[in-house]
Amino acid sequence: MDVKLYALGGYEEVGRNMTCLEIGNEAVILDMGVYMDRFIPLQDQIQQCSTQTLIKEDVIPDDRPINHLRKKMKAIILSHAHLDHIGAAYWLSSNYNCPIYTTPYTNKILQQREKNNQLQLKNKIISITPNSSYKISDKIEIEFIHVTHSVIQSSMINIITSEGNVLYSLDYKFDNHPVIGQTTNKQRLRELGKEHMLALIVDSTNAEKENKTYSESVAREMLRDVVLGMETEKHGVIVSTFSSHIARLKTILDVSKDLGRDTVFLGRSLHEYISAAEQLDFVNFSEKAEIIKNPYRSKKRLDEINKNRDKYLVVATGSQGEPNATISKIVNEDIPLRIKSDDFIIFACGVIPTPSIQANRGILENKIHHKKGRIFKDVHVSGHASREDIRDLIKIVSPENIIPAHGDIKKLASVATLSMDMGYALGKNVHLLQNGRYVKL
Ligand SMILES: [Zn+2]
Repeated sequence: MDVKLYALGGYEEVGRNMTCLEIGNEAVILDMGVYMDRFIPLQDQIQQCSTQTLIKEDVIPDDRPINHLRKKMKAIILSHAHLDHIGAAYWLSSNYNCPIYTTPYTNKILQQREKNNQLQLKNKIISITPNSSYKISDKIEIEFIHVTHSVIQSSMINIITSEGNVLYSLDYKFDNHPVIGQTTNKQRLRELGKEHMLALIVDSTNAEKENKTYSESVAREMLRDVVLGMETEKHGVIVSTFSSHIARLKTILDVSKDLGRDTVFLGRSLHEYISAAEQLDFVNFSEKAEIIKNPYRSKKRLDEINKNRDKYLVVATGSQGEPNATISKIVNEDIPLRIKSDDFIIFACGVIPTPSIQANRGILENKIHHKKGRIFKDVHVSGHASREDIRDLIKIVSPENIIPAHGDIKKLASVATLSMDMGYALGKNVHLLQNGRYVKL
């Protein structure tokens, strides 16, 4: 039986992830993500955009190379709740008459986005608990393996076929001391290493970083050092991070408490990800903090917070410099919260390495400098495996073929050179693909 892997998105950029596996007379899709760089500028009018426009504007993957597989499609499998893995499902999934399989948290996020953004998902969604598997047909079983990343219930996906296993490792890290939840299920990965691993699709995001990605608990100590170890009295403290990073938000809440301040979460997407996590009992932030969904509708309250700035720690959306997010509204004085001289503006995040996001962040930082705010950048540890974690994963599962994904050519090539160090050969069992290409395994 032939197994073909189609690279549809994420093989020329960080984001827009989509891969398809054709296994004999059946097929499955892994992830359907947006390219955040191109998604952010269109975000507010996205409902009006046609699928064709979004493909043409490089917002979502172009799935035409798998048009001929539509009738064979058995499953759309979504690995975790980040938009660069799920965001395109609203436009592309209806091309396929099959269910979407994902974890309960990702399912919640899909539904909330549907409701809050007037989007629609026609496919049935089936929730799979991490560390369990599901038979999607007589020949194919899919397995969700729990991994640490930067959003709750992230999984590697193992596709079990008669030709061997195919492991999809977008996105993961080996966090030995996670702030929320369990460590990556290495035990299961070791078991898979003893079976026939036909192919490994590798997260290349941080492949150029010659290191191990440190634990989220390291990010916690970094934040504590800034917030509790510096001259914050009387000054405003604003922290911005990824709204989906619930573990980081928990850290911020804990540090704020230790500082003796009340925490205010400000912005719609923070509300969205927090309420999904609360509904599944991962956290209970509402009891300990104030969550303001719409800053425009809470101007009086923001005015009070502004006047008593030394009593609060504000968590604001917009860490990537998104022009319509809360922290941009603060610097543009669209809402009654101000940045004053010597206020702390802490970016508990990295910057997604794509051109317009990096430019947006630069503009935001300039505006903060004008207001004489004190900027703290990269108070952060990545959610993606670095080079040495990737080496460990390859060692553990010993795949027959390696397909680097989730990056531009430099990042993919970096995984290729690592694989060659480990005895693999480019073009033989390491395959560098571009969007729209396929390889027969
Ligand atoms: Zn991710």
